[in-house]
Amino acid sequence: MLKSTIYPEWDAPYFIGKEIKKIYCFPWCKGQPELENTVRFESRAKAEQAGYRPCKNCCSSLPLGSWEDNLHELTLFVPKEFSFAENMKYLSNAKNECLFYSKNQRIYRAISIEHETPVVEIRADHDNVIYIRFLGNTMPSRKWVRAAVARYVRDWFDLDTDLLPFYDLAKTDVLLQRAVNEFNGLRNIGIPDLFEAICWGIIGQQINLTFAYTLKRRLVEAFGRNVECEGEKYWIFPTPHEIAALTVEDLNGLRMTVKKCEYLIGVAQLMAEGKMTKELLLDCGDYKKAEKMLVKIRGIGPWTANYVLMRCLRIPSAFPIDDVGLHNAIKYLLGTEHKPTKEEILRLSTAWTNWESYATFYLWRFLY
Ligand SMILES: [Zn+2]
Repeated sequence: MLKSTIYPEWDAPYFIGKEIKKIYCFPWCKGQPELENTVRFESRAKAEQAGYRPCKNCCSSLPLGSWEDNLHELTLFVPKEFSFAENMKYLSNAKNECLFYSKNQRIYRAISIEHETPVVEIRADHDNVIYIRFLGNTMPSRKWVRAAVARYVRDWFDLDTDLLPFYDLAKTDVLLQRAVNEFNGLRNIGIPDLFEAICWGIIGQQINLTFAYTLKRRLVEAFGRNVECEGEKYWIFPTPHEIAALTVEDLNGLRMTVKKCEYLIGVAQLMAEGKMTKELLLDCGDYKKAEKMLVKIRGIGPWTANYVLMRCLRIPSAFPIDDVGLHNAIKYLLGTEHKPTKEEILRLSTAWTNWESYATFYLWRFLY
């Protein structure tokens, strides 16, 4: 029995098999290592005949029945614990965000999938579905690219997490009780692209959020690319290859510290060489090991590592415990004069096991 017969119309020009693990991937899978130890298959069926299993990262993460493909518009079915309005409030807060914008309860952005850059409008007329409409003539003609767009949005809004256990534990939690009441249906809005997530973590170190957005905009507008669609310009974050080829002098115009420029180029080089990927982090087994892999990289300390594990890898127990925003939110909720010490935070968070990441994200909301 071939599993691929479940998705007869799913197609890609080719599939990549990884010989050691015996798994196969769509060509757009972000976890691609360099080309050694890989083999090409012309179809899913061929890969499965050769004994390869579908990669969890790219092939099977759109659960059956979770989306509908109507060509110019995709429908995503969302869990009950989801409020588009609540997530919109979060997204509209980023005033100087350069990679998407929101207008009239809708979000607009370009999504880069291999060689295509569809521009989408994301909206929700009811709370149980999200619509993704392709603007202009950017509808991808291949189904797998449309599937990748659906996957990107599912990932961005973290629709695969079941929030019920979190809401249950929050009911009796001194800090989370109020958070889950006020922000019910909020998801941990992520940064699906690993390079973007790491860069954002590095850019934001030791500066305020407003200046961080300015620096990100300068970086993207200087080294990213853009597509024009229906009179608007949409920016795409630069790739590791693009930044890896630069020198610190090239980044001078951004007015970022020399150290940060070096860090960004260093990370870009690692990623361009395939030495740091989402898959490597996910495959290393546990959260502590993934954290270790990240802090080995120059420019990434425990805060940045946990920030990336939380916003990009969706590691539930990632916990940026040194985060100033987290400290301020706790201080505000407890009505104390002083910021909580690390010991106090550890004590307050003992019941959060495996939900530290969500707890942090919800507490941050009090800062806006
Ligand atoms: Zn894959």
